[in-house]
Amino acid sequence: MVEQDYYELLGIQRGADDTAIKAAYRRLAKECHPDRHNGCRDQEARFKAISEAYDVLKDPQKRAAYDRFGKAAFQNGGGHDPFGSAGFEGFSDIFSTIFGEFMDPRGARQNAARGADLRYDVELTLEEAFTGIEKAITVEAQARCERCEGRGCTRSDQCANTCSTCNGMGKVRAQQGFFMVERGCPTCRGSGEVITDPCATCHGEGRAIAQRKLSVKIPAGVDEGTRIRVSGEGEAGIRGASSGDLYLFVHMKRHSIYAREGTTLIADCPITFTTAALGGAISLPGLDGEKVEIKIPPGVQSGEQLRHRGAGMSVLNGRGRGDMVARILVETPTRMSAKQKKLLEEFQETETGDECPAAKGFFGRVRDMFGG
Ligand SMILES: [Zn+2]
Ligand SMILES: [Zn+2]
Repeated sequence: MVEQDYYELLGIQRGADDTAIKAAYRRLAKECHPDRHNGCRDQEARFKAISEAYDVLKDPQKRAAYDRFGKAAFQNGGGHDPFGSAGFEGFSDIFSTIFGEFMDPRGARQNAARGADLRYDVELTLEEAFTGIEKAITVEAQARCERCEGRGCTRSDQCANTCSTCNGMGKVRAQQGFFMVERGCPTCRGSGEVITDPCATCHGEGRAIAQRKLSVKIPAGVDEGTRIRVSGEGEAGIRGASSGDLYLFVHMKRHSIYAREGTTLIADCPITFTTAALGGAISLPGLDGEKVEIKIPPGVQSGEQLRHRGAGMSVLNGRGRGDMVARILVETPTRMSAKQKKLLEEFQETETGDECPAAKGFFGRVRDMFGG
């Protein structure tokens, strides 16, 4: 297949502007449109060729790639015609579907060489999650090579050549049955360039495993499973390509008093049965260091939840605080002095079913079942 230069095909100068390209294409397309030539194969081939040329030159990204690499920019290493027998009608669509990313050699290369994202698990106390905290962490991962400053070569002048396998694309294509398969270039490992004088420390990668100390700001209100993205602190990219991101995964340590449900702090509060009957108050330590006083109404039942608004957990990315909840557990005395026992026995003698509605109802149902 003899390949004609796109500019020549359209009969325009290399520096032609968009208007000139469009005008040239319109004129030629009208001239050789297949409808006018009743299926003449030569004219059809010509029409296909100028459509192809126009498709590339009208798009600044494709045009830049073409100016730099010629048609190789849109083909795999083997020089195979990637358009096959798709026909000119489908040309535009197929072009952008298959070659969308390929059109931007820098973009494709950046993707291939970008450093991987990293995960770091961090465990926080409830107090730390309440206030938010600046956490010092150490990450061991691919970092920019100190020796060559990430260039990958020892000399500071021109030290990389465009990879001949992939023409600098970082990717190669191969026909597999009906499909075009794209994969990272094995020669340059996706960078698009081959190092002529590789750095001894990083062997031309421009990065090496190193320990990095970081200080990461964790906002107030995070919870188990909260993910914090630290942009650009992941693995370094290959030879100066952009770094990946670091993701902090938050885990919560158990607290000695509080369980947590979202922004609600829940404390199981054992109280004596006399306090339950007579009422009183309990004092809980707030996470902000303030005492939280919770009133116990007379006659509170075991399992009842007493809420103190605004004394709970801070709200992530928001204002205010959740609630604090005291979950009441009424304790039955297991050891009593002789005096206490005597007082209770006297108390029991005064009891009637009326004083305890729940018991009255229950024993009523029991009596019904006995049939009396
Ligand atoms: Zn190096
Ligand atoms: Zn390559």
